[in-house]
Amino acid sequence: MKNENEKEKVIVKNRSMVKNRPMVKNKTVAKDKAKVREKAIVKDKSKAIVKDKNREKVKEKVKDKIKIIPLGGLNEIGKNLTAIEYRNDIVVIDCGLKFPDEDMLGIDVVIPDITYLKKNRDKVKGIFLTHGHEDHIGALPYVLKEINVPVYGTKLTLGIVETKLKEHDLLDVVKLNRVKPRDIIRLSNVSVEFIRTSHSIADSVAIAVHTPLGAILHTGDFKIDYTPIDGCVADLARFSEIGKRGVILMMADSTNVERPGYTMSESTVGEAFQDIFAGAKGRIIVATFASNVHRIQQIVRAAEKYGRKVAVSGRSMENIVEVAIKLGYITTKKKDIFISIDAINKYPNNKIVIATTGSQGEPMSALSRMAASEHRKVNIIPGDMVVISASPIPGNEKLVSRVINQLFKKGAEVIYEKLADIHVSGHACQEELKLMHTLVKPKFFMPVHGEYRHLKQHVELAWKLGLPHNHAMICDIGDVVEITRSSIKKAGSVVSGQVFVDGLGVGDVGNIVLRDRKHLSQDGILTVVVTIEKASGSVVAGPDIISRGFVYVRQSEDLIEEAKELVKEALQKCEEKHITEWATIKSNIKDVLRGFLYERTKRKPMILPIIMEI
Ligand SMILES: [Zn+2]
Ligand SMILES: [Zn+2]
Repeated sequence: MKNENEKEKVIVKNRSMVKNRPMVKNKTVAKDKAKVREKAIVKDKSKAIVKDKNREKVKEKVKDKIKIIPLGGLNEIGKNLTAIEYRNDIVVIDCGLKFPDEDMLGIDVVIPDITYLKKNRDKVKGIFLTHGHEDHIGALPYVLKEINVPVYGTKLTLGIVETKLKEHDLLDVVKLNRVKPRDIIRLSNVSVEFIRTSHSIADSVAIAVHTPLGAILHTGDFKIDYTPIDGCVADLARFSEIGKRGVILMMADSTNVERPGYTMSESTVGEAFQDIFAGAKGRIIVATFASNVHRIQQIVRAAEKYGRKVAVSGRSMENIVEVAIKLGYITTKKKDIFISIDAINKYPNNKIVIATTGSQGEPMSALSRMAASEHRKVNIIPGDMVVISASPIPGNEKLVSRVINQLFKKGAEVIYEKLADIHVSGHACQEELKLMHTLVKPKFFMPVHGEYRHLKQHVELAWKLGLPHNHAMICDIGDVVEITRSSIKKAGSVVSGQVFVDGLGVGDVGNIVLRDRKHLSQDGILTVVVTIEKASGSVVAGPDIISRGFVYVRQSEDLIEEAKELVKEALQKCEEKHITEWATIKSNIKDVLRGFLYERTKRKPMILPIIMEI
């Protein structure tokens, strides 16, 4: 092991020499000069002062460091947000949300904890967006309400952001800056560059933050598609150039690191669509991700070729299609190819294609409602061809399966991923990741965008490509990663975590409320209401027992009566002992009921005593 480490050190030295030759030279020169001076020190005191000054300069250079503070997106898929701090500049990359886990009952969305950014508000120069997916932009309205900083993004990304900000009444107060790939934004100490990538949404970019120590490259979500729908291939030349100039740290997408080979081109899906459209006799209904503009473009192309009209169903998809058409990301050869969902019955079935949300089986989505006969405009009929152009995100398999079953029962033909090539991923597989690592040749590497297993395997991939073992680091949110010219290390941590959004409340629902919700959802609640006379402490009315989600009271009258008797006895005892403290009375009621109910039902409902005084 030792030998190996030593070897690595040698390799590191060589790598840095190749990359930073001028810098290394300067350092050596400075060192040599210092040596010469050291000999002269006894003879000349004034020269010694100069020497000290030089030493300080060198020291300062050596001390120069960049901090990377991930506040989301590590050990989880979602709520991506990374802060890059150099001197007085903090660059924030992405600002995403996460959808709640099953145990986060009633929570709408989850956003990152940005306490650190609020504390360092003056340094935050802007939020720089890689692309328009919810897990990268979804937290913007909430974060911008806390820290109103400029937002930078490409045309489509900002188009989607605008719709979002409009919903939150923020459009007039936030400064949106539209950028193009290869644009460079200069800040006080660093500059930020955007580099084109491919992904399952148009206009995605990687971000390079140029610092005096080298570039920090964040790939964003990416894949390498040589035949993308919009013709905009990832800017591999620029990645290579930046790599040549010296990348001190790369953070790269780890989503598909477990998959060998390459992600297929989006164009292959278009070919599958053409085959399906050629054979379909009735309506075609295609479900996909609302934001997959390229996929929707391919639906439009197939529809044009086979003379069908396109109707869109599902609010999020309608919004994005509107923005994408307006900004030129979805183009049509035929005018009026899009029709309103209200108008589908004016055309024969074989002239209609419906693009819809619900590819994940989400219960409230348009496709689920169609499958359950709850959609107001579309009823599934025999002869319909439903194409589910997505793969279920882990955890959604059951939901998707239920929708597929319902569709088959209604007589529709259903085509899903297992049956045809109707979906490709938006993330790089192993070979594409290898290409990125090889082009960029980072000195240090930090995998992002993935659960722990993805991060771990991405590090192993980087090692295989020759990265020294101690040059890769798996981090967690809240870690402060400190990078100097020659080292990477964790140096403390900052507040981080998840903030729950429920309705209008941001952060007001915490773990205690969630625990109660869980308790209520599992065993229900039992409320005991008693009225006590203030002066004497004797019961004047009640106890009354109301229950929800515990037992059906009408069928459990005996149980409830017995419970009432027990409460009465408990109250009696309190009265005898002259206990007048409400808290004590309440806990006595709880104790006696908890034991009794568990014994009789093996259930533990939440018990809520309410005492009224007259
Ligand atoms: Zn994405
Ligand atoms: Zn993502």
